[in-house]
Amino acid sequence: MSKLPAALLVGFFTMLGTLSAFDFFYLVLEWPGSYCDAATSCCYPQSGKPASDFSIHGLWPNNLDGSYPENCDPSRPFNASQIGGLRGDMDALWSSLSCPSSNSEKFWAHEWEKHGTCSEKILRSQRDYFAAALRLRKSVDLLGALEQAGISPDGKSYALSLIKNALQDGGYAPGITCNADDDDSGSSQLYQIYLCVSKENLEITPCPRERSAIDRSIMEAGAPSDRRILRFDCLLDCIVSGSLSFGFNAATSHGFWGLAA
Ligand code: AMP
Repeated sequence: MSKLPAALLVGFFTMLGTLSAFDFFYLVLEWPGSYCDAATSCCYPQSGKPASDFSIHGLWPNNLDGSYPENCDPSRPFNASQIGGLRGDMDALWSSLSCPSSNSEKFWAHEWEKHGTCSEKILRSQRDYFAAALRLRKSVDLLGALEQAGISPDGKSYALSLIKNALQDGGYAPGITCNADDDDSGSSQLYQIYLCVSKENLEITPCPRERSAIDRSIMEAGAPSDRRILRFDCLLDCIVSGSLSFGFNAATSHGFWGLAA
C-alpha cells in the first residue's frame, strides 16, 4: 500500500474515533395540544395548522447510564439546503409550534446542532438524520394504538394503566412524560412519548433495562418542577394522579385548534 492511502486510512479511523459514542436513540414524539398548554404560547407554523396527531420533537442519542452527548460538532451548523427533498414531510411531521410563527428552521437547527451532530457515527449527514427520524415517525401509529383502546384526544382523563396497556398492545413499550395542565385543575396531560431506537438497525426496539439511571438523568436534566417524568417500570413510584388527560385543553387550546368549545 502506498503511503498516501495509508495516511488517509489512519486519518479516517482517527476521525471515527473522535465522533461521539452513544448506546441507542430516543425518538421523542409529542402531543401538540399538550405542548401548547405547557408553553407560554404557541403558534401555527407558517406551513399551516398541524395535524391532530403526535409530531416529532427529536431523535436523541443516549447512553445506558442516562447521560447523553450534546452539541458535538459546531463546525457543522444546520443547513436547510441539505434537507430540500424532505421539506414536505418535515412540515407535516416535525413543525415548530413556538411563537412567533416560523418556517420551523430554528427548531430543526436546534435539534440538529444539539442532538444530530452527536449522531454522526450512525447518521452521517443532516439529510440522513432528518430522514431517519421521519421514517421512524411514519412507522409508528401511537394515536391509532390509543384509539384502538378507546382513548381519543377528547380532553378527557384516562387511567395511566389504560394508556400503558393500549400502547403495549400496539407493540410499543415507551416512556411517557406529562405536564401539568394550565387550567388550574392540577390535572396532568399526556405530553411526550419516548420510543427507543436501536443504533444497530435504526428500528424501534424495547427500551434498555437500565431505566433507573435514565429516569434520574431525565429528571435531573432540568425538567421543570411542574412536569413529571413517568416511565412504565416506575409508574407506581412516580405517579401523582392515576390518570392523564389527553387532547386539547378547552380553555387554552380549543381556539388554537379551531375546535368547538
Ligand atoms: P431539546 O433541547 O432537544 O430537549 O428541546 C427542547 C426545546 O425544544 C425547548 O426549547 C422546547 O420548547 C422546544 N420544543 C419542543 N417541542 C417544540 C415544538 N413543537 N415547537 C417548537 N419548539 C419545541
